[in-house]
Amino acid sequence: MVEVDFDLCEANGVCVGLAPDVFDLNDDDELIISDADRLPENAGVIDEAIAGCPRAALRWKA
Ligand code: SF4
Repeated sequence: MVEVDFDLCEANGVCVGLAPDVFDLNDDDELIISDADRLPENAGVIDEAIAGCPRAALRWKA
């Protein structure tokens, strides 16, 4: 599964745009990661989101 470092995340929504089934922002502009991050078919877009996050706030959790 993927995890976010909330100390780094600035809620700019880049990952939401790249993987909308996995990431979302709530009304308080906090990042939400859905259970869809565990689906193998989403691994590719999660990789893109991890690479595309301008704050390097996302990573795969071992
Ligand atoms: S792309 Fe990175 S900084 Fe932007 S909302 Fe997602 S985790 Fe946060």
